[in-house]
Amino acid sequence: MKVLVNDGIEEIGKKLMEEAGIDVDMNTITQDDLSTRLNEYDGICVRSATKVRQNLIDNAPNLKVIGRGGVGLDNIDVDYAHSKGIKVVNTPAASSRSVAELAIAHLMSIARNLHMSNRAMSLRGSADFAKLKKAYSNGTELEGKTIGLIGLGRIGQELASCAFGLGMNVIATDPFVKEATIKIGPKHLGLTTTVVTTDIDTVLTSSDFISVHIPSVKEPIIGKKEIEMMKDGVILINTSRGGVINEEAILDGLESGKLRGVGLDVFVGEPSPDAQILSHDKISLTPHIGASTEEAQNKVGIELAQKIIESLKNS
Ligand code: NAD
Repeated sequence: MKVLVNDGIEEIGKKLMEEAGIDVDMNTITQDDLSTRLNEYDGICVRSATKVRQNLIDNAPNLKVIGRGGVGLDNIDVDYAHSKGIKVVNTPAASSRSVAELAIAHLMSIARNLHMSNRAMSLRGSADFAKLKKAYSNGTELEGKTIGLIGLGRIGQELASCAFGLGMNVIATDPFVKEATIKIGPKHLGLTTTVVTTDIDTVLTSSDFISVHIPSVKEPIIGKKEIEMMKDGVILINTSRGGVINEEAILDGLESGKLRGVGLDVFVGEPSPDAQILSHDKISLTPHIGASTEEAQNKVGIELAQKIIESLKNS
């Protein structure tokens, strides 16, 4: 069996496939040349760069599996592949911990004013040390506070695990997950607890911190009305998709003091987020790096290789 890895894979993924007897070709073939070359392979691994469209699939009669390192399948004609008996596999779970830890990083940053302090210290740290110390001395601890999770899927559950580890109470809402078993602390301790989900209004009105972990939506799930329902001084985090929270409502909520701070990894209009959002001193910002850790990339490599091996074995 021969697999083309066109957008790269971690070394561990290549090794696993080779150990399973697969001939792995790591040489990228240009999109134009793929239509005449893909028939040499039984499988192809891509990330987001290579497009696997209908015309390509039609020119690759030997193709048995298309692997996508990551979550989104927008670059693959999935239904058409399935109609031709070709499996399509991806790695949705590999980055959950990384995204959850980034949400915690934003939360900690805002709770202790790190996002503002970092900006101000580099400009005025020497001239205004005492003033800055006073300005940023109103931090808040996470322990004992309630975090409300909107979406209790893979990332929501990982975040619940992080939050329990930090001594927080966790509440969550999810129309499709009624309860979830959450591990607490290192895996070898085997400690778990259960989160039973509730309605969104309870999450909005009872949480000190709110973090959103749902798929992209047509209309924002959090707008002006939802922010008004929240306690005063809530910290709001979005690492899911831009547009899940209305950005104008965020700016209003910060202005009124309803929101203490907001952590954003995702934005409407990526890769050119709104200038008011980018320049707001109460928003902690990262450029969509939720899944970007070495560990997540390794897990992507392992999960993808295992799914490719499994698919080719059963083909
Ligand atoms: P998942 O499918 O495992 O979980 C999503 C959960 O949201 C599901 O349980 C679903 O029932 C729930 N849900 C759907 N609509 C809801 C609603 N209206 N209210 C409450 N819950 C609702 O997905 P996941 O792997 O946890 O990913 C969550 C989000 O994170 C996705 O939008 C994904 O694109 C995003 N993500 C971001 C990054 C990043 O780099 N920042 C990386 C990976 C994933």
